[in-house]
Amino acid sequence: EGLIVAVDGPGGSGKSTVAREIARRLGLRYLDTGAMYRAVTQLALEQRIDIEDSAAVAELAERAVISVGTDPDEPSIAIDGVGVDAQIRTRAVTNAVSAIAAVPAVRALLVTQQRQVIAAALPAGGIVVEGRDIGSVVAPGAQIKVFLTASTEVRALRRSRQLGEKGVDDVARTLAELDRRDALDSNRAADPLAIPPDAVVLDSTALSVSEVVDEVLRRCEQ
Ligand code: C5P
Repeated sequence: EGLIVAVDGPGGSGKSTVAREIARRLGLRYLDTGAMYRAVTQLALEQRIDIEDSAAVAELAERAVISVGTDPDEPSIAIDGVGVDAQIRTRAVTNAVSAIAAVPAVRALLVTQQRQVIAAALPAGGIVVEGRDIGSVVAPGAQIKVFLTASTEVRALRRSRQLGEKGVDDVARTLAELDRRDALDSNRAADPLAIPPDAVVLDSTALSVSEVVDEVLRRCEQ
């Protein structure tokens, strides 16, 4: 027993904020699967591995030990014993992560670990899991599946704000990078970003965080 809430969607759709808030309100654990792909990417960049070399990337991921903290108030991630919470949010990692996430061996490894984290959280009540393929691949049995969307412009604005950017040029650049990442994430051969047929699709373009959270909680209570 235990509740699994899957929150999928593209970058800047508000997944993290929404998923963490739902976990807090329901007293559940929280897993950010994107952070795991980002941690492998951070390690690859640090070790100067060619991110287009799938075999080298797969080997790196096989050797790496990822540990995640699933407290929604203080999620954390470490790779090979080193905390990388700040490093994984840099532009360099964000722009390289899709290449790493496209390697099937990396996905297989991380999906296995994600399922272990989920299984460990179930006896204590459950977990909110955010990513791209949670409702479709990682946890197809999730009781609640949400797919968050938002216009590209709004997503770029949110991401830019997160990065502390202010200028119009910054937003334009972030938008171009987001577009590129969307295309890579949507078109990859392994587990492309797809909306599970049983997911509730919420467009957050014109909704506040609390409106989205309230809507998801309504579904959880049903
Ligand atoms: O959600 P976030 O922007 O942190 O995800 C970073 C990247 O990790 C995505 O662009 C995608 O390439 C990859 N990802 C994935 N599957 C997931 C979560 C993230 O492929 N479940």
